[in-house]
Amino acid sequence: MTSTAELIELSERRSAHNYHPLPVVIREAQGAWVTDVEGRRFLDCLSGYSSLNFGHGNPKIIEAAREQLGRLTLTSRAFFHDQFAAFVSGLGDLTGKEMVLPMNTGAEAVETAIKTARKWGYEVKGVAPGQANIIVMEDNFHGRTTTIVSFSTDPDAHEGYGPYTPGFKIVKYGSVEAIREAVDENTVAVLLEPIQGEAGVLVPPDGYLTQVRQLCTENNVLMIADEIQSGLGRTGDTFACDHEGVVPDIYVLGKALGGGVVPVSAIAADTDVLGVIRPGQHGSTFGGNPLACAVARAVIELLGTGEYQARARELGALLHGRLTGLVGRGVVAVRGRGLWAGVDIDPSLGTGRELSEALMRRGVLAKDTHGSTIRLAPPIVISEEDLLWAVDQLAGALEDL
Ligand code: PLP
Repeated sequence: MTSTAELIELSERRSAHNYHPLPVVIREAQGAWVTDVEGRRFLDCLSGYSSLNFGHGNPKIIEAAREQLGRLTLTSRAFFHDQFAAFVSGLGDLTGKEMVLPMNTGAEAVETAIKTARKWGYEVKGVAPGQANIIVMEDNFHGRTTTIVSFSTDPDAHEGYGPYTPGFKIVKYGSVEAIREAVDENTVAVLLEPIQGEAGVLVPPDGYLTQVRQLCTENNVLMIADEIQSGLGRTGDTFACDHEGVVPDIYVLGKALGGGVVPVSAIAADTDVLGVIRPGQHGSTFGGNPLACAVARAVIELLGTGEYQARARELGALLHGRLTGLVGRGVVAVRGRGLWAGVDIDPSLGTGRELSEALMRRGVLAKDTHGSTIRLAPPIVISEEDLLWAVDQLAGALEDL
């Protein structure tokens, strides 16, 4: 049984419908291109929600994985292994932080940041037991755990999953004043995405991150940057916070850290923050496993060259230039930075879903975020020619609607 229709029918019948995939069944991929079970090729403009920044089958990443697969894949953290020290010091150097705590998925890393901030609040800041609060943003997306969806403002993500975890204050994204008004003596952290990905690639006003940084410092509050989707080259810098030269107290990383091979996430912070977590107080059986560390080391090495950041910057300028040219021709707004764009289309033409389907018929895989917005985030290894072809297909797909 190999046909697309049969495989989709079985998948839909035997799995929970928590996603609404495009009707394509992928079998293999290389670089920016994927091939489906019928042998059709598609240009990947989603990159596994920015997990494949370095492309499908990146030779350096695959080589590291293969080498490690043949040697050692899991020890648990009950023991040290020979990839661990190099991984944590490499990621510490990349983030400029003294310590790293590895986990697996993005949501786990966000949970880790929340727990660390609360513990820091009680042990270092001196917040009364059980009173800590964390300021979070409207339209945030930080994952799917019960605590994280407790402070989601997306009804689909939030409703039906209560009782909810208390201790979060939701404020308007992009407004420093809103944070200032919400901060009190029990605030331990401000948690934000430097660019909101799932919300539609929303870029905050210039200077916002700098002012949030200042406000956090003045109030002895930790700034937590969820760079799971925005980080590791996507925006043309190693981190989206770099755009304003801002250094958060805690970086939250995931997605591309695993090179599109294995789930790898982590938080990075200095010892005065991460030092509050002691043996037995937090952990993960698979977090920091040898295979994950070997793959992430290859990713960190690729980022160390600066080539991917430069490429995302250059191709991003080209992408945004071309997309801006479509405004008024079916596109109403374009946002984003680097090789990452949120494209709002005229809702009278159709939904983001319909546009994604039209793009698929033209050989481009992209996905809607909300309503009439689609996100473009091709692998950074995409060629200039393919990128321009993708934008031409977008223009064509808008006419197809
Ligand atoms: N944080 C951000 C900013 C994300 O974009 C995502 C996933 O899209 C997550 C957290 C959750 O990551 P995961 O799906 O690996 O749990």
